[in-house]
Amino acid sequence: MPLLEIDNLSVSFTQYKKGFRQHDLKVIHNLTMSMNKGEIVAVVGSSGSGKSLLGHAILGILPNNANVSGTIKYDGDELTQERLAHLQGCEIALVPQSVNFLDPLMKAGEQVRSSVKKQDALGAQRTVFEKYHLGQHVEKLYPFQLSGGVTRRVLVSTAVVGEAKVIIADEPTPGLDSAVVKEALSSFRELADNGSSVMLITHDIGSALTVADKIAVFYAGTTVEVAPVEDFHGRGELLRHPYTKALWRALP
Ligand code: ADP
Ligand code: MG
Repeated sequence: MPLLEIDNLSVSFTQYKKGFRQHDLKVIHNLTMSMNKGEIVAVVGSSGSGKSLLGHAILGILPNNANVSGTIKYDGDELTQERLAHLQGCEIALVPQSVNFLDPLMKAGEQVRSSVKKQDALGAQRTVFEKYHLGQHVEKLYPFQLSGGVTRRVLVSTAVVGEAKVIIADEPTPGLDSAVVKEALSSFRELADNGSSVMLITHDIGSALTVADKIAVFYAGTTVEVAPVEDFHGRGELLRHPYTKALWRALP
């Protein structure tokens, strides 16, 4: 049974001009996809196409002018706002694309520890900090005191420290050096091998192919094709959609 099932999801935004309601801007259209336990599914598509929005819709963190239809199920039951309030952070975690997701008034160590269910939150936080080469002094720093790369590593740490069942990693590694990128991707693999599902959102199919099991191709607001990575490593004749074929042809 899939761990996360998205059925016929649509998201649009109500637009206003000079206080008057205009037409709705539809960004996600009738999107259906699912993720099994133990799987890394990369959602690949161009910038501005609605990939972050998909992640935010799963987490139930959309702006007030968003209209949502369709269903999202986690572990067989609908993911309501009420359920999300219990699951967010521990069972379903986000590595946000925007660094603005960090609480500006909370020290880095506290942010990471707030996602840990275990008794020994400090131990878990220190283990993950060590993994991402974050010195112990970083614990006591506020977000405004962190460099871009350190902020990214704190965001990844916050998402992986609680060993969540579903991780939505939205462009998790921009600007990080390749050793840290490798470390982050191998943490996702490790979580998946222990039964979690990871959605790796990226515009870069090359990096997706190094770690994912499946590629969900996101085009014009929906997933037009979900293909196993092997299809991209072969001659590509198994790929069906023209945009998928274009991505495949553009591979080095
Ligand atoms: P991606 O992550 O694929 O680069 P996003 O999910 O960030 O794309 O954004 C998709 C589109 O959603 C954007 O082009 C933007 O026009 C629209 N959008 C996002 N938030 C809002 C909002 N609050 N109001 C209106 N449109 C929005
Ligand atoms: Mg995005």
